[in-house]
Amino acid sequence: MSSPIVTAKQLEVQRIVDVLSKAIAQHRLRPGTRLVEAQIVETLQANRNHVQVALQRLAMQRIVTIEANRGAMVSQPSAQEAREVFTARRAIERAIVESITPTIMHKQRERIARHMANERKATSATDRRVIVRELSEFHLLLGNICGNSVLSEILANLMVRSSLIVALYQRNDVPSCASDEHQHIITALEAGDQAKAIAVMLEHLDELEAQLTLEDTVTPEVNLKDALAGL
Ligand SMILES: [Zn+2]
Repeated sequence: MSSPIVTAKQLEVQRIVDVLSKAIAQHRLRPGTRLVEAQIVETLQANRNHVQVALQRLAMQRIVTIEANRGAMVSQPSAQEAREVFTARRAIERAIVESITPTIMHKQRERIARHMANERKATSATDRRVIVRELSEFHLLLGNICGNSVLSEILANLMVRSSLIVALYQRNDVPSCASDEHQHIITALEAGDQAKAIAVMLEHLDELEAQLTLEDTVTPEVNLKDALAGL
């Protein structure tokens, strides 16, 4: 992902994209939240033009929806789109798991151990945002270590969209990923048993999708400044 020339503008746009993506992934900004340019400019100390470019980029990724005369808001994926995102995740995460060799697992063992410890710590506590972040981080970690940056980039987008989908359609408010399923995937990958790791991953994704009630919902207004504070 190294491009020869990275300008200050590109870096700044990426910073805004990252903060907004993070806020959306962590449910600080829920689906349907209006993204008022002036508020983002003020809260993130950013240039208006950079904010506009960042919002356009997020719109291309389907994370933000821009409507003529109404401005930008956090996307509200339809039930159909939700199913499509899960179908795409099954394909992408299967390919990711397939690419992770025992050698990679060995090289990355400290990073993986650190993540699994953070995940256990999060799920044994009650801070929902931290739980959501850590569970999602597991999937992103596999994407990051698999050695294929295209798969990793596609997954990063699908994970933010999954987060929107969970915010809209999850039946209960309890985070969905079970940590022991994650551990089973790790154990299988360490043993070089890709077939087992793929089977557990696909079953895991099926379960996540099964926890959703794929009907249309409406969400209340959220204070943008509060949601972005401290990121
Ligand atoms: Zn999971």
